[in-house]
Amino acid sequence: MLLIFAMITVVECSSQKDAFFYDREKMVELQLKNRGINNESVLAAFRQVPRHEFVLPDYLKYAYTDNPLPINEGQTISQPYIVAFMTQVLDLRKSDRVLEIGTGSGYQAAILSQLCDSVFTIELFESLNTSATAIFRKLNYNNIYTKVGDGYLGWPEKAPFDAIIVTCSPSHVPEVLTTQLAEGGKMVIPVGGGGIQELVLLQKKNGKIRKKDILPVRFVPMLNDSGKKY
Ligand code: SAH
Repeated sequence: MLLIFAMITVVECSSQKDAFFYDREKMVELQLKNRGINNESVLAAFRQVPRHEFVLPDYLKYAYTDNPLPINEGQTISQPYIVAFMTQVLDLRKSDRVLEIGTGSGYQAAILSQLCDSVFTIELFESLNTSATAIFRKLNYNNIYTKVGDGYLGWPEKAPFDAIIVTCSPSHVPEVLTTQLAEGGKMVIPVGGGGIQELVLLQKKNGKIRKKDILPVRFVPMLNDSGKKY
């Protein structure tokens, strides 16, 4: 009897604890909590989402390290801390609809999907859209909607959004994105194009946009469909 109970416990634990369980816990403690990420729902999302599913096979052993990593098309999956910082700043409610520009690996969208009603994510490269969509299916993230296109234009058919997160950097805030933000909504965006950029938080209050610089960051540039930087 005791043996059976012990076996059930082992089986139960192993289904929750994949091979990277402890790496993920360590990432949350050392990279996120120690640096001021304190929103419990955000931390829970990072404990839950298997980052190793979103990295290229060659980088599997670095999946939980404190860095951005290369993905296909010369793009990157952002550093866990930056993903967490941008997510925490949006202060999402369970009912929120969120727009992401720059699906990339899909990791940021997966984190957001744990914290809101639905995520609409746009990616310029079809191959990245295809690989991220396959991972969302595999992991049953059914509240993420993907599209190939130029995110500079937003997703007018699905607007307004309670939050917008931009994970590639234009030289300026795209005006049309602010029009797709709901009243009270927040947008976080790295502005500056090449080199070091400033992460800017915008909020729409009484129809007006308020802006605040929050952190120097480095993102890949936002490109148009001819490959030119915005
Ligand atoms: N959020 C991603 C980060 C990917 S890097 C993640 O968690 O992995 C930024 C992504 O923005 C790249 O995949 C790049 O191809 C994409 N991108 C660049 N310009 C874009 C545009 N105009 N519209 C949509 N995506 C764009």
